[in-house]
Amino acid sequence: FHPDTHSISYTTLSRFPPVKLLPPSKRKRVLVTGGAGFVGSHLVDRLMLLGHEVTVLDNFFTGSRTNVSHWVGHPNFELVRHDVVEPFMIECDQIYHLACPASPPHYQSNPVKTIKTSFLGTLNMLGLAKRTKARFLISSTSEVYGDPEVHPQPETYWGNVNPIGVRACYDEGKRVAETLTYGFHHQDGVDVRVARIFNTYGPRMNPSDGRVVSNFIVQALRGEDLTLYGGGKQTRSFQYIHDLIDGLIACMNSDFIEPINLGNNEEFTIEEFADVVRDVVEKVQKEDGVENAKRVGVKDMNMPKDDPQQRKPDTTRAKEVLDWQPRWTVRMGLEEMVRYYKAKMAEGSL
Ligand code: NAD
Ligand code: UDP
Repeated sequence: FHPDTHSISYTTLSRFPPVKLLPPSKRKRVLVTGGAGFVGSHLVDRLMLLGHEVTVLDNFFTGSRTNVSHWVGHPNFELVRHDVVEPFMIECDQIYHLACPASPPHYQSNPVKTIKTSFLGTLNMLGLAKRTKARFLISSTSEVYGDPEVHPQPETYWGNVNPIGVRACYDEGKRVAETLTYGFHHQDGVDVRVARIFNTYGPRMNPSDGRVVSNFIVQALRGEDLTLYGGGKQTRSFQYIHDLIDGLIACMNSDFIEPINLGNNEEFTIEEFADVVRDVVEKVQKEDGVENAKRVGVKDMNMPKDDPQQRKPDTTRAKEVLDWQPRWTVRMGLEEMVRYYKAKMAEGSL
């Protein structure tokens, strides 16, 4: 074995997926806040497989231990229950700061806590990055563009956010988190990266977190009508989780300091998206031998307050700077997600 081949697995740890054995010079000590959540747990999987040492900080508000339980006991992995609103000390080389509820019902359930998480949590993690000289990446969001008047949204657009609306705890929280991030960069020389993530979906998304992808799939599988808010003329673009993880890791390891949009630029009205979900669920059910599955209808519901009317990323910068672009079509990703929820239903956990 030569360490540079990066291809040996821990044969004595057979209950874990095989991980690369990196030479010490390449192995990073990586802190992932929010690592027990949907995006965080996929990031943890990839970082572990790449051979890094990963510590997860999470208060399990919207995440869960089971999302990362397959790594518990691995010598490269540590799971710490901690709220990022409180300071935390650890030696590390890279910090992916993801801790923050992301779905509107969750972040609106306790708006003061959401803004504390974004402000104090980011302040604490930037303080840690300053002390340890770790590189710091924050998972920001397309929500910083608010209800955009520029379409699609490039990183140079400053946004259109209602500062006192129901979404403000999240939107303004992320905007101030970005401001803090660049404050620490300019004032203290902290090495920072900012990823602005657009709507992302995939396995491990909490089925009850109220987002449109999880709602529609679960409803269609249960034979219930899809809950279409406000007539469904508003648009979104949906990115599959594996594309996002490629982009986050490329962003962390690039030299580019300004914000980078990560998202899929195939845009759907929510009404069109309801049709795509129903098509994909039908296809999967047929492949699984369920011939008489009924095609569900839609149920009109009120439009939530301040719901953005259109959203689609301009990903020119990600392509130029990271050589990154999404590889998963929405139909491919939805098939994976439908199979994941079907398996959960079959085992009785959904
Ligand atoms: P998620 O709710 O599944 O994960 C968030 C994680 O952070 C959870 O494990 C939760 O328990 C943890 N957390 C929340 N508050 C915390 C606190 N105070 N201290 C410690 N841990 C805390 O959401 P997600 O979809 O995985 O989102 C992860 C990150 O990506 C968030 O920062 C979110 O703003 C960002 N993002 C996600 C999307 C998306 O479509 N999923 C889009 C844009 C931005
Ligand atoms: N939406 C919907 N039905 C649902 C959930 C959401 O029509 O059951 C709509 C929602 O109003 C929004 C879009 O789908 O316009 C995306 O909502 P989601 O909560 O997934 O993400 P976000 O609004 O944060 O982009």
